[in-house]
Amino acid sequence: MTTLAEWTEAAAAVEPRNQMFIEGEWVDAVSGATFETINPATGTVITSVAEGDAADIDVAVRSARASFEDGRWASLSPRDRGQALIRLAGLIESHGVELQLLETLDVGKPIRYSRRVDVAQAVHTYSWYGEAADKLYDDIAPTGPNALGLITREPIGVVGAVTPWNFPMMINAWKLAPALVAGNSVVLKPAEQSPLSALRIAELAIEAGIPPGVLNVVPGFGETAGRALGLHPDVDGITFTGSTEVGKLFLQYAGQSNMKRVSAETGGKTPNMIFADAPDLDFAIGAVGFSIFWNTGEMCIAGSRLLAERSVYDRVVEEVGAMSGGWAPGDPLDPATKAGPIVDQSQLDRVCHYIDRGVDQGARLVAGGNRTLTETGGYFVEPTVFADVSNDMDIARDEIFGPVLSIIPFDSEEEAMAIANETRFGLSAALWTSNLGRAHRMSAALKAGTVWVNNFDTSDITAPFGGYKESGFGGKDKSLLALDKYTNVKTTWINLGRGGV
Ligand code: NAD
Repeated sequence: MTTLAEWTEAAAAVEPRNQMFIEGEWVDAVSGATFETINPATGTVITSVAEGDAADIDVAVRSARASFEDGRWASLSPRDRGQALIRLAGLIESHGVELQLLETLDVGKPIRYSRRVDVAQAVHTYSWYGEAADKLYDDIAPTGPNALGLITREPIGVVGAVTPWNFPMMINAWKLAPALVAGNSVVLKPAEQSPLSALRIAELAIEAGIPPGVLNVVPGFGETAGRALGLHPDVDGITFTGSTEVGKLFLQYAGQSNMKRVSAETGGKTPNMIFADAPDLDFAIGAVGFSIFWNTGEMCIAGSRLLAERSVYDRVVEEVGAMSGGWAPGDPLDPATKAGPIVDQSQLDRVCHYIDRGVDQGARLVAGGNRTLTETGGYFVEPTVFADVSNDMDIARDEIFGPVLSIIPFDSEEEAMAIANETRFGLSAALWTSNLGRAHRMSAALKAGTVWVNNFDTSDITAPFGGYKESGFGGKDKSLLALDKYTNVKTTWINLGRGGV
């Protein structure tokens, strides 16, 4: 399909699943309640989805627990679990158009990206962990001859996954694939803005041979369903991605209940630093658009603070301001569209609030600043660029999670470093320089989980992802390190019978 008309017709034919998926079955909420999931490009209802709350979470956790304890999944050989994940990857690929449309309808993701990024990343993630399944070895402690110390990794049991709406399919895959391959059973509570792709993938998981009860999906709101999962006494671990504020709540829930382990991937305020000696200044400036306007700025790693060395500052401001118009939003079903709407009214209000704060606090509005395409009924906002920002303004301190860029001048490497680290977040940072010593000095000194030198947002499933400070806690997503979150380490001492250990 290559035209807006073709995609619009295909979108109209999609039939989203809208119940919850527990024990391999579609069920309504115990309460019978539903909530509407909205197409943010039009403001219209896509479908009404079963609204899970504490009662439904309890049913789902019981299902996950039973499936874990009877070994229907955990006792399979790693190879068999891995093969099931590889089959799931294949099914996601073969249902790619449907899943791509579900993601575009649910969160407004441009159709040109929802296949080649979201579907493709999900496929790659499930197959990568599936392929890893039977290539992981346990350890033997290097002790003396009288005892054998086995160090083995076991699934933790029932994992609760609570996820955001900005990359639903991809982030769900980052959680589910390692949790499942390690032998856990899972209850997933997707974001209320974006339940649709998760429901379809849970159904495909059954087709792939993942037994009923091993992957349950309970749509619902954070304050009810999410909270209930966090507090449930029979959940062994929570894997969360979302805001820092809610991440902290999960730490509380764990403390108030069974001390379940919590891992949280949370917010960011990435500094993107352009030095005058960048190896290719045009390229560095060109990459700014992608760093903040791609995915409508709804990215935890968004390069929302652009630090520019004084000698190139005016050029950076002028060129970034001019280029921002190229990221003007449009109909996400149009293959020409590079940026879609904001995900919902409340997030749009948040973005507009911060634009007003930027103006009120004296930043210079260089481009954008307004809602747009209001006639569509959707939640569109212009790509917005502020210059002459100081790092203590709200737009430089808080995570906005929209297409709003703050440009901050600096005069020295020391000043850039200080500004970069002066934030409660520590997810990622980027710098552009030809100075090898500076690249190493700064990479080491930046308090961030990922540092990009002369690139932005390079990523791969082979490398861990997660933040420092208030950007993350309790382990990483992606790579084999993610398995640490979903396994307990057991030490078993065997007496070898040679006179005691
Ligand atoms: P959010 O924190 O509002 O919601 C995330 C999830 O938590 C949703 O499923 C939501 O229903 C649930 N939730 C909300 N309130 C809850 C509560 N009181 N108790 C239990 N659960 C609750 O975040 P969002 O708006 O969906 O996503 C945007 C945020 O996610 C941003 O802060 C962004 O930086 C972050 N994010 C981080 C990463 C990362 O890997 N570090 C990746 C993507 C997004």
